[in-house]
Amino acid sequence: MTQTMPVIFAGHGSPMNAIEDNEYSRGWRALSASLPRPRGILCVSAHWETRGLGVTAMQSPRTIYDFYGFPDELYARAYPAPGDPALAQEVRRLIKSGDTQLDLSWGLDHGTWSVLCQMYPQADIPVLQLSLDRNRDAAYHYQVGQELAALREQGILILGSGNIVHNLRLIQWNDTAYDWALEFDKQAADWIEAGDHTSLVEYDKAGRAAALAINSAEHYLPLLYVLGAGGKKGQASFSNERVSMGSMSMRCVVIK
Ligand code: ZN
Repeated sequence: MTQTMPVIFAGHGSPMNAIEDNEYSRGWRALSASLPRPRGILCVSAHWETRGLGVTAMQSPRTIYDFYGFPDELYARAYPAPGDPALAQEVRRLIKSGDTQLDLSWGLDHGTWSVLCQMYPQADIPVLQLSLDRNRDAAYHYQVGQELAALREQGILILGSGNIVHNLRLIQWNDTAYDWALEFDKQAADWIEAGDHTSLVEYDKAGRAAALAINSAEHYLPLLYVLGAGGKKGQASFSNERVSMGSMSMRCVVIK
């Protein structure tokens, strides 16, 4: 019998974490070492926002350099993991609440590959991306996560990549943390631990700290897929528990 795969949310932060040996990249490597080896990976990244749902279905997804002004070394790094068109069909079949398009043009954006090149540096596990349909509300993203839970029984790792607290407008280029960022990061962790997914989905009712932490939501929404697929009764644990650059939480979540 296949072991049920845990689900993961990774706080990705700066693209430089792809090539730096730092506390975050070390945390990601420790995370992959603690998991059963997946047969494939489905990543919901903050950096692929669409109208309607898409899943990458090409044989060989390209590495996308969706960032500007970074060192050449980062642009020289590629992540040549294969795709898995059959798995894309399966994802499409499982998502009942939307008509998922099989996408042949995207690839792996840095939300996906900056984390995976640390977790699985051999790039020998097939990787798919699922887009964020920005026409939809938070409850919808959570529901799609629930529909994808069956993949866990097929050896597929569901990975959400974003940041639980992410406010680029208020970012500080130093190692500080706003009070509201610490407050919401802790609040979210408490809700995750308690399986209180309703509060996490209804973050727009959670007051000022939540509003500042989730000002544009694309970095938060991948968490809702992980919660939906992980289930309320799942056992949650955390790593990289740190708020940095004022308004960015690097917290990672594993639900088993
Ligand atoms: Zn990002």
